[in-house]
Amino acid sequence: MFMILPILKYGAPGLRAVNKPVETFDDELRKIVKNMIDTMYSSPGIGLAAPQVGLGIQLTTIDLSVGEDPGQLIVLCNPEIIYQEGEQKCDEGCLSLPDFSETVSRPLRIKVRGRNAEGEEVQFEADGLLARCFSHEIDHLNGVLFIDHLSPLKRSLIRNKIKKLAKAGDW
Ligand SMILES: [Zn+2]
Repeated sequence: MFMILPILKYGAPGLRAVNKPVETFDDELRKIVKNMIDTMYSSPGIGLAAPQVGLGIQLTTIDLSVGEDPGQLIVLCNPEIIYQEGEQKCDEGCLSLPDFSETVSRPLRIKVRGRNAEGEEVQFEADGLLARCFSHEIDHLNGVLFIDHLSPLKRSLIRNKIKKLAKAGDW
């Protein structure tokens, strides 16, 4: 069944919640994963973290091809960054902050380990956009958003714009 989950926007407490590790790798989890992938593709986005759809678990889906290349789909539970180096600065957005994008500094190369939807241990080495994406999504699992990496001035400008949008009922 195709299911699109509502995505929480900046200001929703779920985005700042503490997320529990996935412990049971069962059909229920695989259903959640499927719904997250459907939601990610239809948004469309290259990554989605469970807290963005109100689920307080350490689960993220990533696909730089947005469904074009099945080989690029990554499902990662309980991810842990085991190595990172370098720096890249690029424009970055987030499905929870629609229409906002800012330059964010991220590691250039990253090594991540976790489990897939079957509970098997998996490990990824990435650079460029994929490294950025891992860093962004793992941030979500720790309640961190990309605007937290900006200067206080840029952050408050965005916050004020969102407040205005919220007042107008557009957020
Ligand atoms: Zn995001």
